[in-house]
Amino acid sequence: MRASPISPTVDFSADGVQHGFLRLPYSRDDSAWGSVMIPVTVVKNGEGPTALLTGGNHGDEYEGPIALFDLARSLKAEEVSGRVIIVPAMNYPAFLAGTRTSPVDKGNMNRSFPGAPDGTVTQKIADFFQRVLLPLADIVLDFHSGGKTLDFLPFCAAHILPDKAQEAKAFDLVHAFGAPWSMKMLEIDAVGMYDTAAEAMGKIFITTELGGGGTSTAKSAGIAKAGVANVLKAAGILKGPIEAAQTTWLDMPDGNCFLFAEDGGLIEPLFDLGDTVRMGDIVARIYPVGRTGEEPLNIRAKMNGILAARHFPGLIKSGDCVSVLASVVMT
Ligand code: CA
Repeated sequence: MRASPISPTVDFSADGVQHGFLRLPYSRDDSAWGSVMIPVTVVKNGEGPTALLTGGNHGDEYEGPIALFDLARSLKAEEVSGRVIIVPAMNYPAFLAGTRTSPVDKGNMNRSFPGAPDGTVTQKIADFFQRVLLPLADIVLDFHSGGKTLDFLPFCAAHILPDKAQEAKAFDLVHAFGAPWSMKMLEIDAVGMYDTAAEAMGKIFITTELGGGGTSTAKSAGIAKAGVANVLKAAGILKGPIEAAQTTWLDMPDGNCFLFAEDGGLIEPLFDLGDTVRMGDIVARIYPVGRTGEEPLNIRAKMNGILAARHFPGLIKSGDCVSVLASVVMT
């Protein structure tokens, strides 16, 4: 396969702090020989594990970029044992546009793996992570939130994996992150995900959903900043005690946790994030908006649990995810 077209302006093997770019040539109407300049920071000090930290995989999710731009400006080489690679906004064109997918090619970064060196801009970025950055990493933390269309309870998560030793290490890091909630996560469609690419390489991969609605809060940004520091301490890359936080473990046991709209309309939530829901409860109503006098569509829970995610905008379309329920794991 051909080499990646991306040229890093940093040397991933050099000690010290380097701020630079992953420069991706992108010829276009307003810049014939232009490039996409994806900010990157590498902090390395001697031997030790490598953490690869990413935000902005989806461009409208902000806790990760906040925590990682802050970490990149403040982390000092002498504090580190090993290496930290920080890409605060992985799908940089999407991040600049404030959209989930890239305005350049409509590419959804988390459905673009393993990517292609001769593909679209988004596929070229995915390919660089697949073949250059992921192989350097021991642990991978990829920040997500709900974006403009979903809102989540703040949780850190890892997946159930066939390799139980790899899975246990990932859940240990989730515990160390110390979000108010910790999730054993089920994916609707794992094909093409960065998560899956990292896990298939044997990396210890964790992710988050820290809020949503296309914004952040003082609380959610604070969870992200504390969490990344705790993960680096748990990995032995930073020194100091992990700030022990109470976390409640959640599980997405099967596909019944997802509720989808079969009609569009005006959504009335009957439960809020964190509320306890019983099977059969009406989680939300969808009012048809074409005329008055119509009955709403009742969206009923298919399991007992707590409301872990919900549709964010006030209007909903057929096929949209209404909510996600999760079971509380007794530990
Ligand atoms: Ca996301």
